[in-house]
Amino acid sequence: MAATAAEKKLLIAGEWVETGQWVEVRSPYSGDVVGRVAKAGAAETRNAIDAAEAAMREPLPAHKRAEILVRVAGQLGRRHEEAARTIAAEAGKPLKAARVEASRAMSTFTFAAVEARKLAGEMVPMDASQAGAGKLAFTVRQPLGVVGAISPFNFPLNLVAHKIAPSLAAGCAVVLKPASQTPFSALLLAELMTEAELPSGWVNVVVGPASEIGDVLVEDERVRAITFTGSGDVGWKLAERAPRKRVKLELGNATPVIVEPDADLEDVATRLAANAFSFAGQSCISVQRIYVHRHAYEELVSRFVSKAEALVVGDPLDAQTDVGPLIDTGARDRVLEWIQEARAAGAEILTGGELEGELIRPTVIAQAAPDLRVSCEEVFGPVCTVTAYDTLDEAIELANGTRYGLQAGIFTRDIKKAFAAAKQLEFGGVTVNEAPTFRADQMPYGGVKDSGNTRERPAYAVRELTEDRLVVVEL
Ligand code: NAP
Repeated sequence: MAATAAEKKLLIAGEWVETGQWVEVRSPYSGDVVGRVAKAGAAETRNAIDAAEAAMREPLPAHKRAEILVRVAGQLGRRHEEAARTIAAEAGKPLKAARVEASRAMSTFTFAAVEARKLAGEMVPMDASQAGAGKLAFTVRQPLGVVGAISPFNFPLNLVAHKIAPSLAAGCAVVLKPASQTPFSALLLAELMTEAELPSGWVNVVVGPASEIGDVLVEDERVRAITFTGSGDVGWKLAERAPRKRVKLELGNATPVIVEPDADLEDVATRLAANAFSFAGQSCISVQRIYVHRHAYEELVSRFVSKAEALVVGDPLDAQTDVGPLIDTGARDRVLEWIQEARAAGAEILTGGELEGELIRPTVIAQAAPDLRVSCEEVFGPVCTVTAYDTLDEAIELANGTRYGLQAGIFTRDIKKAFAAAKQLEFGGVTVNEAPTFRADQMPYGGVKDSGNTRERPAYAVRELTEDRLVVVEL
C-alpha cells in the first residue's frame, strides 16, 4: 500500500472499529491502492443494528437534528475539495464532476434540515361525521425505526447523503453499507457527522461482503426500512425478501431523449455530449439513446459526434478530464462486448468503439436495432445510439421501448409537443429543453417500471421513513 493511502475503520456505536480483516480499494484509473477499510461481516452488522436501536431509544428533538444536518453541510463546504478528490480517487469520477457532486451533497443536507423542522402531522376534521362529533383528533409523524441503507459506487457521496440525511431528519438511526469499491466518501461523511456532534449510534457504517451484510439487514426485524440504490437485479430481490419492510428502490435506466427539428441543435449537441459521456456514462440517467427527427438528423449527429470527439479522455484527477475510466475491467469488457455485438449486427460506429490507453473513447452508434443491448438495456458506459424518426408518436414509442422508466427528455420549441411527450413518456421524470441527466436534489427523483418504486428527495423520503400516530381526545 502506498504511504499516502488511507486506512479507515468502521463506525459502530460511535466507535471507530477494527476487525483484523480489510477491504482494499484500488483506483479504477491507475490500479494503485487508494486505501483499505476494516471489513465488516454479519457480527458487525448486528452490532450496528443494536447501536442504531439503542440510539433511537433516546430520540433527538427536531431542532437538534436540523442543527446537526446544517453543521454537516457547513463542514462539507469547508472540506469540499477533499470530498471531491476522495470521490475522484476511489470512483474514477473526473474531478470537475466530483466537485459538482460534493456541492450537491451540501444541498441534500441543507434540504433535509428544512424537512426536520417542518415534520408535522395533521388535524383530522372529527365533526365531519356523526361518529367523530365531540372529539379532537390529530396525527404526529413517528420515526419508522432503524433504516438499512445500501448505496452504489457511482455517486459515493451524494447518494449516501440522500440516505443518511433524510433518515436523520425523520428521526431514524441508520446502518449504512456503501459500495465496496467506494467506501471512503461514505466514511468521510460519517466523520463529518461525528464532528457535527451527532450522538453515537445514529449513523453506523459497515463495509464488507454485500450478501452477508444484506442478509442481516433483510432478516433483522428491527430494520424497518431498506433504502437501496443500485442495480435492479439486487434491488428487486431485496424487496421480495423483505415484504414486511418498506424497501425503497432507486434503480437503472436506458435514458432516451427526443430531438425535434425546431430545437436549437448546437445547444442540444453540447448538452447531450456532456451528459452522455461525462463520468464515462456511469450515471443512472446518462443519455444513452438519442432519437432525432429525420429533418435534423444529419446536422445534429454531425455536431454531436464532433463534440464527443472533443471531450478530454484521461486521468480523473486532472481537472481538464471529461471522461475517465469505468469502475473496473469487468465493466469495461462488458461494454466493449456490447459495442462489438452492435457492430456485428450491422450497426455503424460513428466514433469511438475502441480504447484510448485503457479507457473506452466516447462511442456513438447509428443504425442500432431496437433489440440490441445498447438500445434497450442499461449500458452504464460511454456509449450512445442515434436513430432517425419521422413522427413524434414514433419517437415516443421508441423511447418507451425499454423495461426502464427513470428519466427521459425532449428538445423542442413547440409547447404542445413538449406537453404531449411529458404525458406519454413512461418515465418518472421528463425534462424539456434540458438533458434528462439533469437532477437537483430537491426534485422528486425516481422511476417507474423496472427503475424503482419510490421518489428520492428529502421531503419525500422523510414522509416514507415516518408513519402517522393518531391521537384522539374526548372533549
Ligand atoms: P449494485 O451492484 O447493485 O450495487 C449497489 C449496492 O448494492 C452496493 O453497495 C453493493 O455492494 C450492494 N449489493 C450487491 N449485492 C447485494 C446483496 N445481495 N445484498 C445487499 N446489497 C448488495 O450497483 P452498482 O454497480 O454499485 O451501481 C450501478 C447501478 O446503480 C446502475 O444500475 C445504476 O443505474 C444504479 N443507480 C441508480 C440510481 C438512481 O437513483 N435510480 C442512482 C445511481 C445508480 P458491493 O459494492 O459490496 O457489491
